[in-house]
Amino acid sequence: MARITLSGIEKNFGTTRVLNGLDIDIADGEFLTLVGPSGCGKSTLLRIIAGLESQSGGDVTIDGRLVNHVRPSRRDLAMVFQSYALYPHLTVQQNMETPLRLRDMTPWERMPLVGATLPGRGGKLEKLRGLVRETAETLKIEHLLQRKPGQLSGGQRQRVALGRAMVRKPVAFLMDEPLSNLDAALRVHMRSELAELHHSLKTTFIYVTHDQAEALTMSDRMAVMMEGDILQLGAPDEIYRDPADRRVAEFIGSPR
Ligand code: ADP
Ligand code: MG
Repeated sequence: MARITLSGIEKNFGTTRVLNGLDIDIADGEFLTLVGPSGCGKSTLLRIIAGLESQSGGDVTIDGRLVNHVRPSRRDLAMVFQSYALYPHLTVQQNMETPLRLRDMTPWERMPLVGATLPGRGGKLEKLRGLVRETAETLKIEHLLQRKPGQLSGGQRQRVALGRAMVRKPVAFLMDEPLSNLDAALRVHMRSELAELHHSLKTTFIYVTHDQAEALTMSDRMAVMMEGDILQLGAPDEIYRDPADRRVAEFIGSPR
């Protein structure tokens, strides 16, 4: 679990400014959604939190630790994307074991990884299998462990991608439009599954979407973004009932 503080986050790509000095204090265990139209800077902000992109100004703090110069792998966060990025030649079980095995391996040991049956490290194998099983049960994918990604539906793949992120027990999940590749019915179903998952994990979730309905139904709080600014930050019902200005009202679809 983690409290994540963003202060004065700015980002320029060359001479183009895409984030205008954003401040958000994300509470431990909160489900915060970054919502706004395409191109407003949501993914860039999420990537800065993850450490995949460096900010042009401002600070990212995780549990009081300034992480501006901390590598992504040392931030203990899990990033889940819309493209599932599963290893197609490995089973679900192996896909989910990979992050745990990689963590215990030296770069030298990682080299022959492609297509390999990964070695277990003395006595750790049982623990690792246990952790994968436990995670698979939480996500209701135990029956899929021996399949390969090509034999799964979109929703099942999304669960496996989540599972692979969960096994490392991250302090927060960062999700960038994780449901946007799914059909409409499944997307609605997965919304409630994600909300349930958040409830049971009690971990911080930062969730990016351009879909206001998704943001309104799942979040503790949502930050409505437009053109690199946060127009309003608050609870969904509060923003819906009392939008800060016309742009927010129009985007959210508040009644007049
Ligand atoms: P969103 O996720 O809200 O759709 P992004 O964060 O992807 O928005 O992009 C915000 C703006 O930054 C867009 O105008 C986009 O074109 C620009 N942008 C994003 N990544 C890069 C990059 N690597 N180089 C240049 N411009 C970028
Ligand atoms: Mg994006």
